[in-house]
Amino acid sequence: VDETLAGIDKIDPDVAAFLAINADGAKKQAAAVDAAGIDADQPLSGVPIAIKDNIVTKGVVTTAASKILANFNPIYNATVVEKLAAAGAINVGKTNLDEFAMGSSTENSAFKTTKNAWDYTRVPGGSSGGSAAAVAAGEVVAALGSDTGGSIRQPAAFNGIVGFKPTYGRVSRWGLIAFSSSLDQIGTLTRNVKDAAQVLNVIAGHDERDSTTADTPVPDYTEKIGQAIKGMKIALPKEYLGKGVDPAVADKIKAAANQLEDLGATVTEVSLPHTQYAVPAYYIIASSEASSNLQRFDGIRYGFRAKDVHNIEDVYVRSRSEGFGPEVKRRIMLGTFSLSAGFYDAYFKKAGQVRTLITRDFEAVFNDYDLIIGPTTPTVAFKIGEKVTDPVTMYMNDILTIPVNLAGLPAASVPAGFVDGMPVGLQLIGKPFAESTIFQVAAAFE
Ligand code: GLN
Repeated sequence: VDETLAGIDKIDPDVAAFLAINADGAKKQAAAVDAAGIDADQPLSGVPIAIKDNIVTKGVVTTAASKILANFNPIYNATVVEKLAAAGAINVGKTNLDEFAMGSSTENSAFKTTKNAWDYTRVPGGSSGGSAAAVAAGEVVAALGSDTGGSIRQPAAFNGIVGFKPTYGRVSRWGLIAFSSSLDQIGTLTRNVKDAAQVLNVIAGHDERDSTTADTPVPDYTEKIGQAIKGMKIALPKEYLGKGVDPAVADKIKAAANQLEDLGATVTEVSLPHTQYAVPAYYIIASSEASSNLQRFDGIRYGFRAKDVHNIEDVYVRSRSEGFGPEVKRRIMLGTFSLSAGFYDAYFKKAGQVRTLITRDFEAVFNDYDLIIGPTTPTVAFKIGEKVTDPVTMYMNDILTIPVNLAGLPAASVPAGFVDGMPVGLQLIGKPFAESTIFQVAAAFE
């Protein structure tokens, strides 16, 4: 822990991955591990882990990278934080993100701009950009992130590490500051596949405080690592190598497919015909749920309150106007519009129908195949500032990750070579609760 904290002191002034360092708390936790000795029942005993700052940590300021939560000091821990502590892991600090996890580059943080660990002029991706850069820069071995439309997998791809988003309902969201409750899922950012499996072993499982968690038993996710993938049937959707995907990135994915075939798997081209509708449907659903979830930030219950307010309406309007950043406001307006009486059928309801079609596309492929592969992102990491004034171009960066959230499926991004000196991510998508199959194939590829 001392070495980790020293490393962060040295590296983080350049990378800017952390919003808060939990130095005293981490040292206390480490002293307790030292006193008790390594415990076989504590699989992460003494392992320093960073936590995305939209996951609440008791006594450690949790901001979701928003001014409206600056100085918010939670009085409880998220379930995942409790589980990590019970497993002996050390919470070394809170990582930067796009405000309320809305974004793909971490440039929407109200506090700082995190750099890509490979090139400080490029974005780390987002919204879990702080967690990804911290792991890739060697500041920590593992970090938690959240993935609503790609926020674990995309920054993992951009930083050349492993990002894992479990099945919706596999990990408790209790204590995750809600963005879009039907899409949000907590997962891991690690340097390799086995570390991801070991952290997921700890954080997965039913939680009576989150009624959307599944009762399905948690297997040992390391179990299939090392098993041969001979005979495995893998699908490669043609839409994932089509328009908008950089041909150099597509080549890396084809090379990965060849590698899997060399290992005895078959890789077959398939179609997910509704892929093109995923981004518009997602932005209606996610923004609608966000507009509802973010009502609680009213200037009274948490964090920031505008100064010199004159009446209750003034408290709400001014606190929210001054506390939320531009992207959050854009989504609240879009979501409120989509949910309003005259437009509900045309937008929110329609988006829900499209979501069903996208889910069925996946189900049809999974009738015949064990796993789907494709690129995680259409391009490698872009330059800081490049897309920040063009929200739609920014949104399109998530075209390959968003369908997975709409269908609630588990998926990972693993490193698959470089284009222009920047890492490329291979995405592996599994059937619901088939995390073990993803780990098996990802490890074989590693
Ligand atoms: N980039 C997507 C968005 O802005 C996804 C974010 C996420 O997964 N949290 O909504």
